[in-house]
Amino acid sequence: MLEVNHLSISFLQYEKGLKQQQLKVIKDLSVSVHSGEILAVVGSSGSGKSLLAHAILGILPTNATTEGTIYFDGVKLTPEKKEEFRGKEISFVPQSVNFLDPLMRVGTQVRNAARGASTSAQRKAFERLRLAKDVEQKFPFQLSGGMARRVLASTAMVSGAKLIIADEPTPGMDPTVIKEALKYFRELADSGCTVLMITHDIGAALEIADKIAVFYAGTTVESAMVNDFSGDGRLLRHPYSKALWR
Ligand code: ADP
Ligand code: MG
Repeated sequence: MLEVNHLSISFLQYEKGLKQQQLKVIKDLSVSVHSGEILAVVGSSGSGKSLLAHAILGILPTNATTEGTIYFDGVKLTPEKKEEFRGKEISFVPQSVNFLDPLMRVGTQVRNAARGASTSAQRKAFERLRLAKDVEQKFPFQLSGGMARRVLASTAMVSGAKLIIADEPTPGMDPTVIKEALKYFRELADSGCTVLMITHDIGAALEIADKIAVFYAGTTVESAMVNDFSGDGRLLRHPYSKALWR
């Protein structure tokens, strides 16, 4: 369903005296995930997890250049294709709540962002993520951080997208809500949706994912099925992942 091959990302930067230089921040990221699977991407801060998500969606800053290929559902993702799929076949739970529209009631924006999902689908998602009924009438400034994150997650959950990319969707949520949200992602995957979930929570990754990729300093250092990461004979080659699992 999704195949990223040797993605690298450089940013054109201006130095003092207006000297330009290309700074390569992402060196070699490769991930792949089949339809109906959950791929958990774990990795240190700054290892390139969010940039991978933004590259697939086609929302990198304009001073970024990329190399490598991305295939989605058998189609090579060109900038035009990314725009075509963004918010439709491919949905997104961003890491930052700044992605919410400050001037629109959250119920309306969830339904709009999710391709006009029905009010009942939106309410079901809110209920599962323990958002009170009156939340749909609120504006983003009236939400706590955790509530805003649940609103973002529910948008992707009701979108009917083939691929959901969730960038650290659970921090700030109550532990019981995190459990419910993870269960929700698993159910979506079981019904055929593909999920790329960026997380710091190895426990959650082992629990709900089919596959795990570990990023370190802009490179994929491990990528294997969850079973290969648990029990004896664990497939951990890189010092970072060894430390992560200890
Ligand atoms: P994370 O794994 O924490 O999500 P990111 O993907 O956000 O990491 O960032 C990966 C690296 O790319 C970091 O070192 C970050 O500083 C760098 N980076 C991200 N955005 C930009 C940008 N617009 N310009 C230059 N460097 C950037
Ligand atoms: Mg990030």
